[in-house]
Amino acid sequence: MSQEFINVFYIVAAALFVFGLKQLSSPATAVRGNLLSAVGMFVAVVVTLFSQGILEFQWMAVAAIVGALIGALAAQRVAMTAMPEMVALFNGSGGVASLLVGWAALYNPGNTAFIHISILLSILIGGVTLSGSIMAWGKLSEVMASRALVFAAQRVVNALILIALVACGALFMLAPALDSPYLYAVIALSLLFGVMAVIPIGGADMPVVISLLNSYSGLAACAAGFAIQNNILIVAGALVGAAGIILTNIMCKAMNRSLANVLFSGFGAVKTASKVEGEVKPINAEDAQLILEAASSVTFVPGYGMAVAQAQHVVRELGEILERNGAEVSYAVHPVAGRMPGHMNVLLAEANVPYDQLVEMDDINPRIEHIDVAVVIGANDVVNPAARQDENSPIYGMPIINVDHARTVFVLKRSMASGFAGVDNPLFFGENTRMLFGDAKQSISAVIGEFKG
Ligand code: NDP
Repeated sequence: MSQEFINVFYIVAAALFVFGLKQLSSPATAVRGNLLSAVGMFVAVVVTLFSQGILEFQWMAVAAIVGALIGALAAQRVAMTAMPEMVALFNGSGGVASLLVGWAALYNPGNTAFIHISILLSILIGGVTLSGSIMAWGKLSEVMASRALVFAAQRVVNALILIALVACGALFMLAPALDSPYLYAVIALSLLFGVMAVIPIGGADMPVVISLLNSYSGLAACAAGFAIQNNILIVAGALVGAAGIILTNIMCKAMNRSLANVLFSGFGAVKTASKVEGEVKPINAEDAQLILEAASSVTFVPGYGMAVAQAQHVVRELGEILERNGAEVSYAVHPVAGRMPGHMNVLLAEANVPYDQLVEMDDINPRIEHIDVAVVIGANDVVNPAARQDENSPIYGMPIINVDHARTVFVLKRSMASGFAGVDNPLFFGENTRMLFGDAKQSISAVIGEFKG
């Protein structure tokens, strides 16, 4: 296959990536966007394998079938609540793939200095992404403590590792070879650096880590593309790297933190929030139904607990009942609600909640005092007024959905337990708050039962 011909296919693949990414920006077109990008990647992989004479078509077909089966099975079996961990593992796989491609590129004869730098970067960033993603997976799946782990002289230790990494990289560049001891030092140090970079980040700052690692996996792939001189890998890597860094920026803004502050300050490691006390006012499904029946505007505020309870379908059903009853219904989605970017949007889209009923935090907050009932479904940190009121709170300064300003707030959760950030929530003791204790799906179903009489 001539290089021109290959490039035509690569341009088609790149266009599919770009259109796919564009469509991912709206829930209405996201599924199609995902499919388009996947087709683009399929074209890119097949053309590359074929043009380089790496694999015959029959072996590609076998690999495609095996890969599709594994992918379909994993997607089927993974619980919706475990998606973030799966994404962390995907990022890690991207990292290790780039590390291995970079390493293997050293076998190519006649590599230029530029290619050796690309090889070094793909190994280095790939290694950091791999071990960092494994740590993120551990924190999200609570295999290890999800809080920030900080110790004295941590920054000094990290700075020393970084200096050693740069020094070994430079020494490797003096005589780049497969048997260079500095190559193995770079691999070991980058893996160590990935661990050290992620352990001081925890609690509510984890969304930033996930999107940042996603960006790193793209940068590593881009470097690997330069290492093996493959245009489409450079394009795909650059797209993932850029998209990841934009998402990181959005996540930082959503938490009102700078990236440097997230990466280096150690979430909640120093601050201790003021103790919250007061009277809790529980409510039952029957009374909740009476209040909702009289409401003319209701906003649902979903959080991680909705994913745990898989309550999205009954929530939509209740929303429809309320609409038929004459209420204006909306769903207010916080950018870091749940455990991964877009978590709530995915769940609500799965339950066919109309897109025009989804509202962002900045749209709902200015008018929330006119909302009759805000129904908080398994959300906690993203509606915690301590973020506004308590300067000692680790989440102080993070923008929240101000449900406490609504006329009445229902909080649906199983207990008084804190959320992911591990901080108490004064909302539960608010004058206008009623706690509807229990699994969110069961509670909502009970309210629906009351409506149906
Ligand atoms: P939180 O983790 O703050 O709170 C979830 C609440 O859901 C818990 O307090 C829990 O209370 C309740 N819950 C759990 N299971 C059920 C159930 N079956 N029925 C009813 N309630 C249930 O969630 P938020 O969405 O408010 O906030 C997300 C947090 O996660 C933030 O701190 C964010 O920074 C962090 N995070 C977000 C990521 C992202 O990208 N979106 C990534 C990683 C972390 P109880 O046990 O009493 O039921």
